[in-house]
Amino acid sequence: MEPQDTCDLSIVVPVFNEEEAISVFLAALAPILNSLDLAAYEVVFVDDGSTDRTIEAIEAAQQEHPFTKLVSLSRNFGKEAALTAGLEWSRGAAVVPMDVDLQDPPELLVEFVRLWRDEGYEVVYGLRQDRSSDSSAKRNSAGIFYRVFNMVADRPIEPDAGDFRLITRKVVEATLQLRERNRFMKGIFSWVGYKRIAVPYTRPPRAAGETKFNYWKLWNFALDGITGFSTVPLKLWTYVGVFVAFLAFLYTVYLVGTTLMFGRDVPGYASTLAIVLFLGGVQLISLGVIGEYLGRLYLEVKGRPIYLVRGTMGFDTAQRRSSGPHPVARAVPKTDFDDEAV
Ligand code: UDP
Ligand code: MG
Repeated sequence: MEPQDTCDLSIVVPVFNEEEAISVFLAALAPILNSLDLAAYEVVFVDDGSTDRTIEAIEAAQQEHPFTKLVSLSRNFGKEAALTAGLEWSRGAAVVPMDVDLQDPPELLVEFVRLWRDEGYEVVYGLRQDRSSDSSAKRNSAGIFYRVFNMVADRPIEPDAGDFRLITRKVVEATLQLRERNRFMKGIFSWVGYKRIAVPYTRPPRAAGETKFNYWKLWNFALDGITGFSTVPLKLWTYVGVFVAFLAFLYTVYLVGTTLMFGRDVPGYASTLAIVLFLGGVQLISLGVIGEYLGRLYLEVKGRPIYLVRGTMGFDTAQRRSSGPHPVARAVPKTDFDDEAV
C-alpha cells in the first residue's frame, strides 16, 4: 500500500443495497482510472447499512481491483451522511463523489482531472444537461425546488448540478469544517466557494437496481436543504402578519363605517367563519414552519455523530488511525473487516 500522501485521486461511492451494481460500476470505472496517468488512486465505498450482499460484493471486487476500500456504517444513515463519511476517510489530493449506478458517467473523470491538473480549478462539477432519464414529475419537482431554494438561500446552488464533482483536498477539508448534522451536500459544496467550472453531461438511466429515493424522501431532503441554508421561511411570517393585520384594519374601518351609516349588519356568519378559518390555517402553517426549524435545532444541539462506523476494509494502519470518523464518533471502537470476518 502506498503512503497516504501519494494518493492522487479518491472516488467516494455511497452504496445502499447495491449488490448488482458494484461489479458493473468497477468494470466501467477501472479502465478510466487506469488511463488517467495517476500515481495512485482509491475507490472508497461507503456501505450505508445495506441489508443485501453489498459488502460481500465489495469484498469480492477487492480481489480484482486492489484499490477498492470500504467503510461500512452501522446502519442506514442516508446518502448525505455516507458521503460525509467517504470524504472523511478518503485521502486523495482530489476527491470525486460518484453514484454507483453509473448515472455519473466515469468517462467524465478524464475532463474533470484535466481541468483540475492543467487549469487549476478547485471544483469541477458535472452539470446534467439532459435529464430525460428522470421522470417528468421528478424533473418538475426538482425544478421547483431549485427555484425556491435559490430564492431564499444565502448562497444559490446551480440547478442540475449533483454531487458528482471533483474537489481538491483543500475543498474537502473546507466542507468538513461545516460540522452541522443536517448535511445537505449540494448546499455545503456551494457554500464553501472556491474556483469552479461546470462540465455539462447527459445523465443516463440507472445501470442496475432501482432508485433509493421516493417522493417522501425527496420532500424531506428538500426541507433539509431549505432549512439548512435559509431562515427566510421563519422570517416570512413577520411580513405575512403585517399584511394580514393591515387587511384586518381596512376591513374594520369598512365594518365600523357601514355600521355607523346603515345600522348594524347582524348576519355576518359567512365572513366571520371564513376569517377565523383562514387565520387558523395561517397560524398553523407558521407554527409548522417553526416546528421544522425547532426539530432540526434540537437534533443539532444533541450533537450526535453524523454516522457510526461498523468496520473498514483496505485502509492501511496510518490511514485508519488518522482517518475520518467524526470527532464525536472517534471514541467508538471499530471492527476491522481486514482482521475479522464480517
Ligand atoms: N444511497 C445511499 N444511502 C441511501 C440512499 C442512496 O448511500 O440511503 C446511494 C445509492 O446507493 C447510490 C446513490 O446514493 O449510489 C444515489 O442513489 P440513487 O441512484 O437511488 O438516487 P437517484 O439517482 O435516483 O437520485
Ligand atoms: Mg441514481
